[in-house]
Amino acid sequence: MQAAPSTEPAPLAPEDEALRAALLGPPGARQRRALAKAITLIESTRPEHRTRADALLDALLPHTGGALRLGISGVPGVGKSTFIEALGLHLVGAGHRVAVLAVDPSSSLSGGSILGDKTRMERLSTHEQAFIRPSPSGGTLGGVAEKTREAILVCEAARHDVVIVETVGVGQSETAVAGMTDLFVLMQLPNAGDDLQAIKKGVMELADLVLVNKADLDADATTRAQAQLTSALRWLGPHAHAAVRVMPLSALTGQGVAEFWQLACEEHRQRQAAGTLHARRHEQDEAWMWARIEAGLRQRFRADPAVREVLPEISTLVRAGRLAPSVAARRLLERMR
Ligand code: GDP
Repeated sequence: MQAAPSTEPAPLAPEDEALRAALLGPPGARQRRALAKAITLIESTRPEHRTRADALLDALLPHTGGALRLGISGVPGVGKSTFIEALGLHLVGAGHRVAVLAVDPSSSLSGGSILGDKTRMERLSTHEQAFIRPSPSGGTLGGVAEKTREAILVCEAARHDVVIVETVGVGQSETAVAGMTDLFVLMQLPNAGDDLQAIKKGVMELADLVLVNKADLDADATTRAQAQLTSALRWLGPHAHAAVRVMPLSALTGQGVAEFWQLACEEHRQRQAAGTLHARRHEQDEAWMWARIEAGLRQRFRADPAVREVLPEISTLVRAGRLAPSVAARRLLERMR
């Protein structure tokens, strides 16, 4: 008979024991340093760091789950950082502890970044009760997203009760962020055509709430965009039956920020009461596990000596049209030990 899988956490190295203690300890400079250090450990690609990060996450797990996880997406220039700064300041002013993380596909592709420049959210970034971390660079989008997912848990262990994950409206990053947050917020501009673009990309289907930003610039256009988006949302996706709210916002003047937060909290409470919040998180956790299994299998496949031995030759045959891709895949998979 097979033994049941172990749920015992792996032992922590002494230095990581200190890290854990600092993370779970009182807020302040020591905790902030520990938070930054723990996330750096998580982001490392070195295998021994991975082992340590896994053990640390295991040890922190009982202390996670306590935050409202908020995803925010929108094209560059829509006003994400202006909004996050305004919302963040509103929240720390009300006694919350806010963490801001980012998933930036441009940082995975080129090492450059759309979200990562340091001048963003200047006031929030210096606030004691806020922690801001730019997107990890390098690696695949999947890898970047996975690290952000783990960073959420570390922030929660350090008792940040609102974790904001920001992403840009390009590529597949929205799906990744919607898959790790409780509420996914899409920011739009009041100009016509924008809504249709978003629908094409399937991003609207992911939205739990839509904000029409820069409402201060043109009130009429904002009202029109709100109506268009509301009717478009009615025909879409898993939320088609539920009313996805479309709200006007001016991140610059702060108008609509408090209303947004009130609505987000209400929605969160309702979902908590109905059990759908936990269901969503459980689904996300299982999907995360499978993503890791698939990534692990791919890595093992590529590292397998028996596969490596014939891979170049079989690839050449496939590229030359002399071997069917499906046959090639089967042959390679059969060689994997
Ligand atoms: P991001 O790329 O989505 O993070 O966008 P930013 O927050 O950097 O904003 C892009 C530009 O739009 C900046 O110049 C902001 O000052 C401006 N902006 C952001 N929100 C508003 C708003 O509500 N009204 C107006 N008029 N400008 C805004």
